Amino acid sequence: MKTHFKLPLIQNNEARFRAQLGEASRLSGKSGDAILQKLDVFVERTMKHLDGVDRKSPMKGYAAAFHAALAASTKAAGKRARDLLRGFFYPQHLIFHLRTYPPYPHLPQGGKAGALANEKCRAAYLPSTDVGPLLAKNVDDPIRNFKPSRSFVPPKPAENHVVTDGTGSGLHFDEEPPDFFPVDYATMLHTVCKAARGATEAVEMLENLSSNWGGANVLLFDKGKGSARIDKCSYNRFAAKVNAVPCMEHISGMVCQDPAYKEYQRSLRQAYLDSVGGDWSGYEGVFWEACDLKETVLADGLKRLEPQPTYDGLLKLFTRHEKPGHLCKHGEPVVQGEPTPGEYTLQRNFYVIEKNEYHRWQWDVEKNLPTCQTPREVFPLQLFAS
Ligand SMILES: [Zn+2]
Repeated sequence: MKTHFKLPLIQNNEARFRAQLGEASRLSGKSGDAILQKLDVFVERTMKHLDGVDRKSPMKGYAAAFHAALAASTKAAGKRARDLLRGFFYPQHLIFHLRTYPPYPHLPQGGKAGALANEKCRAAYLPSTDVGPLLAKNVDDPIRNFKPSRSFVPPKPAENHVVTDGTGSGLHFDEEPPDFFPVDYATMLHTVCKAARGATEAVEMLENLSSNWGGANVLLFDKGKGSARIDKCSYNRFAAKVNAVPCMEHISGMVCQDPAYKEYQRSLRQAYLDSVGGDWSGYEGVFWEACDLKETVLADGLKRLEPQPTYDGLLKLFTRHEKPGHLCKHGEPVVQGEPTPGEYTLQRNFYVIEKNEYHRWQWDVEKNLPTCQTPREVFPLQLFAS
């Protein structure tokens, strides 16, 4: 087995860790202890995953190395193991691996059918339509454990000047960033949206925090109709497109649009396939290419809407059923004939920003009705403070 992914034993730099914890604490207004507690929960959850690892997996080399590194660090700490997991002496490389590890036990064997490759969402921001600025999103996820929301309680008008939406953009294995600190992703975004005065500034702040997050593309826009998108499959790379003048922007699950980033993403996927003896004709490769096609369909569809964008036109695009490249998913398998999980569009969200309205459609689990066949629900929601 080729092992592209190694576990280099990075020396923990306590001073850097303390400085970053202080900065995270200052930004979020949470105590250092509260942040570390979140990490604690994460470690425990991950350890449960590790118990279920299939030792016969072709990737057992990775699992074994991970176990060994974790055991070594715990042993070294002796009775202080608990403190080690919580505190300043926690090795940074293990924090990183704990974060990226949970999908591992679910990865397919040899690039064949697996349970992980479920695509994550797509979103588009249109600054000008027949109903004013619009944010649209399809939430695509596995249907297991999905419970439709019964109601919607509008939050108090946010204080933020920037709104973000995101899609999953994971790698099976990422490479270690040189300078990792476990800033909680949601806290980081929330904090940046509150602090930044516009989309451009938010992108600058997120670039500074770049090595602290991966696996999520982000769409941003502000009240002045500035917008941006960030490609971010890896902790190590950051690519942003910032639109100072109002224009459409979008993101797609698992797809980086920046050409250089896309090439880098492909190289990491290739490294993963090499490590399991798979190739692009296997399940994972087919899945990634299907994600690319859906991105093309969305980008082309938005371009066609551009001369005269409308609510109905956007809704039609987000409920497109023509295959290949359908954007409304009804549980179809990723690869026909394979025992693969189906793909579902579980929710469709439209935000009519100037009307302060949130429109929602969601999969009816009881009646087994696809999202496009369920009634629209309308709720009040103010995205920006007035
Ligand atoms: Zn549909």
